[in-house]
Amino acid sequence: MVRDEYNDGLSAEDRVLLEGTFTRILDYLVSKNDREVPLATIHSAKDLYDVMDLSVSDSGVDVETLLADIDAYLQHSVKTSHPHFMNPFWGGPPASSLAGEFISALTNTSMYTFEIAPVATMIEQEMVNLMAKFAGYQNGEGTFTSGGSNGNLMGLLCARDHKFPNAKFSGFTKTPVAFVSSESHYSVEIAANTLGMGTDNLIAVESDHQGKMSINSLKRKIAEQKDAGKIPFCVIATSGTTVKGAFDPLPEIAEICAEENIWLHVDAAWGGAALLSPETRNLMQGIEHSNSFCWDPHKMMGMPISCSTFLVNQQNVLREVCSHSNSAHYLLHKKNAELDMGRMSLQCARRVDALKLWLTWRSIGNQGWSEKIENYMNLTKYLSNRVKDEPTLELVLEPEFTNVCVRYVGHNLSPKFQDMITDQIRTEMFEQGKFMVTKALIDHRPILRPVIANPTVDQKSLDKFIAEITVIGARMAAELPPK
Ligand SMILES: *Cc1c(COP(=O)(O)O)cnc(C)c1O
Repeated sequence: MVRDEYNDGLSAEDRVLLEGTFTRILDYLVSKNDREVPLATIHSAKDLYDVMDLSVSDSGVDVETLLADIDAYLQHSVKTSHPHFMNPFWGGPPASSLAGEFISALTNTSMYTFEIAPVATMIEQEMVNLMAKFAGYQNGEGTFTSGGSNGNLMGLLCARDHKFPNAKFSGFTKTPVAFVSSESHYSVEIAANTLGMGTDNLIAVESDHQGKMSINSLKRKIAEQKDAGKIPFCVIATSGTTVKGAFDPLPEIAEICAEENIWLHVDAAWGGAALLSPETRNLMQGIEHSNSFCWDPHKMMGMPISCSTFLVNQQNVLREVCSHSNSAHYLLHKKNAELDMGRMSLQCARRVDALKLWLTWRSIGNQGWSEKIENYMNLTKYLSNRVKDEPTLELVLEPEFTNVCVRYVGHNLSPKFQDMITDQIRTEMFEQGKFMVTKALIDHRPILRPVIANPTVDQKSLDKFIAEITVIGARMAAELPPK
């Protein structure tokens, strides 16, 4: 066959590569529910070097080798769609989002101007407006970001400009202080560092046993800082804390912020999805009184990473915060200025992350989301009841969201041995490729934190999980030296 080099944009080799890739994608999806396959096979860098050739050569390799590389990548990657994967706040993505992800990459453009990304711009606006409405923001605005970490930075930046309108030019002339609960995500500290406000000026507010910010502690800390001559400019509340899945009391916090004229940013990277179901919405009651919040569709909503939003409860804040002297004459023009999302972002080139979310939302509708969240909440209830029924396990706290905190307590084991066994159960399950769950500390003691955020997890996964940890725990307890 004679190739027409003008009309045939796809070489025979590229066709083989892409067809081979798509076949592998479908095969991967078909087998994603298989519980018998190990979740992970690689436990060290050395293991990986033993099974994969990562080097590049001068002359390159052929398509068959590339397909073999893709096979090796698929084989040795952690199977995050596996029904026993309950480690981070996400799992396998829905097919509609994968379609969006592929099309974003295929049409490769950047979100900065309407001109270069017309459809994507309008889709992003649609999603931002929709999500702002879910929060009760009447006249909101927003942008997609790389993640909640970036959203928290933007929240602090908006807060800074609110209190110190000149700080962008002159830097801080007085000492700013921001307040977060002791359970907050570490990205807030990085944001404070990046902002140049000094991480010592990020004041930790106490939280209660459930993990919620203490209102009395917040009031006290604000007063202390004012007495010390510092300027409180931001409270960062958390909706869905990392370990306990706790939701800070937004109505009370918002009231204090309004009295003190302090910006209220809510880190809802994890908990934002609670807005999608009438059964969980009340967890975020008061969000409508916040000034900004971030919400990660790449967590509970299952979008491929990255897919994250930062939303503000007022228009034209982001343009002001992200403005720069007009040196981007080659990019940002007057025409369409009101549509150019590049004026509302800390990024220049930016992926089209809204497309996958839009396709999934179109596909399942609002009802699809509420059913998904309710299913996760029901599974959480099921798991916590199973834990409570096991005399050798302790449910460390009653879950508010889908984080479940579990400890192995055995029969009359000392706290030291409980901690040791809890810790080792996780390691053993991971090394055998059976389950992946997070280990975290509560009151300085290790706990297991399975989280329900992966669509393939079902009751059977949870039954197997309980069986696994009780059996491993009992075996380890029996191996302990006699008292
Ligand atoms: C995940 C998470 C973040 C960070 O979000 P990324 O999207 O991973 O950057 C921030 N805060 C909370 C509470 C989170 O759960």
